[in-house]
Amino acid sequence: MAEPNTLFWDNGGVILTNGWDRDSREKAVEKFHLDWADFEDRHELMLHAFEIGGATLDEYLRRTVFYRERNFTPQEFKDFMFEQSQPFPESLEFLGALARTKRYEMATLNNESAEINDYRIRKFKLRDYFEAFFASCYLGIRKPNAGIYQLALKITQRAPQECVFIDDRGLNLECARELGMHVIQFENVAQLRNDLSGFGITANEK
Ligand SMILES: [Mg+2]
Repeated sequence: MAEPNTLFWDNGGVILTNGWDRDSREKAVEKFHLDWADFEDRHELMLHAFEIGGATLDEYLRRTVFYRERNFTPQEFKDFMFEQSQPFPESLEFLGALARTKRYEMATLNNESAEINDYRIRKFKLRDYFEAFFASCYLGIRKPNAGIYQLALKITQRAPQECVFIDDRGLNLECARELGMHVIQFENVAQLRNDLSGFGITANEK
């Protein structure tokens, strides 16, 4: 069997912090003095649309935060949201070394809303690493739905066994594995490097 030549990467929890997870929302509730139960309920109702490109960031915020008067602005809240995205330097270094070999086709396969995804691509120069961005906000479907993995395979014209999918959450890996993709559950860079080398995938690291 040929060695895999295509790598699909989750982003949040693998190469960057999560874009807008529970911890970040808890911080927002504290900073902006929101009501947790109310905000979280509204967030849950809006999340799907937000992440599949069905609701813009402004629409999301209008429904979850600015449905009533506030003593802060939408821009202040957005700035706070964007600040939640931080790099995992060791992961990015390894990712860069893999990308520079030019031996592998590299793409993201991630759930994210459009504005946060675009921000992260720009801020962390993700185009230096990835040739394509299979993000839920562009494809209109989220992990762990089988359809998102199938789209990534069709658009890249790869067979599942040519692909390795890397994600930090087990559930997201299950569907990919059922479709025949190789999967790695990310824990840390040393483990990822080791697991990839098991597939013959190595970087020329200094
Ligand atoms: Mg993740």
